[in-house]
Amino acid sequence: MIGKELFVIKNGRFGKLVCANKFFEKGQKILDFSGPVLLRSELPENIATPEDDRFLQVGINLFIGPSGGVDDLINHSCEPNSAVMIKDKNASLFAIKDIQSGDEITYDYSLQMNDEQWTMQCRCGAKCCRLVIKEYRFIPESLKDHYLKLGFVPDYNRGL
Ligand SMILES: [Zn+2]
Repeated sequence: MIGKELFVIKNGRFGKLVCANKFFEKGQKILDFSGPVLLRSELPENIATPEDDRFLQVGINLFIGPSGGVDDLINHSCEPNSAVMIKDKNASLFAIKDIQSGDEITYDYSLQMNDEQWTMQCRCGAKCCRLVIKEYRFIPESLKDHYLKLGFVPDYNRGL
């Protein structure tokens, strides 16, 4: 069956963007992360650039690797319109705001991260941009509260 694609990939100033190609209502599931589940010990030793870092943390020692699909390409934003929900070893992306067709889809990478080594420069352009993105424990308390209330903080990061 050939249907209308849900997403369009565009080229932005800093690389590829995943944009909605339909309206997603707040609360709606956008996609499932469909890459292989990997142990921390199975990750590549050196990930040269953020563009090569296509590993989504889903447990203290568990990650979902690249799928080859759009789920690999979704950018971080400090003021995102979606968030990842982790259940067991599965991760899905949900709209946390209404997303219009044409809008870039983004989520906050820090929520899943539990790794003191991990940092990423951010150029998302949001007023609240944190500039250097780090693991969950370092995000502002008010932001933790926000995501805790929405239910998007994974179990392994709750209480940090
Ligand atoms: Zn930012």
